[in-house]
Amino acid sequence: MPWVITSLCRDCVDQACVEVCPVDCIYEYTGEDAATFPNQLYIDPEECIDCGVCEPECPWEAIFEDERVPAVFQDDIALNANIMETKDDFAVPDVTEHDKPTPEAVQANKEKWGFNE
Ligand code: SF4
Ligand code: SF4
Repeated sequence: MPWVITSLCRDCVDQACVEVCPVDCIYEYTGEDAATFPNQLYIDPEECIDCGVCEPECPWEAIFEDERVPAVFQDDIALNANIMETKDDFAVPDVTEHDKPTPEAVQANKEKWGFNE
């Protein structure tokens, strides 16, 4: 089963996940429809090989196996899958290093999205 990047990734641009994905199936949106595809990364479910390597690398804890995506992020499953409809508007981003968030910032981001695990 493919993995899914959720809204917890929004505006992160950390890209730690991109660096470790063995099949380069994590993409950024390069088109002009930001209302449909907000500033986060997306996993192509047809290319993902279900290795799970990206999940522990994400400092914002934004990546889930599709069967385990929390209820509040269920719409993100289809949002990731939509990449297959407009693949020309997606590209594998260049990896840039960023400071990691504090545990408090990670928790605050979860609460912002209504995710209280
Ligand atoms: S689960 Fe593996 S193949 Fe799928 S996006 Fe993560 S690192 Fe890439
Ligand atoms: S590491 Fe996590 S928060 Fe950063 S771009 Fe990847 S999925 Fe998004």
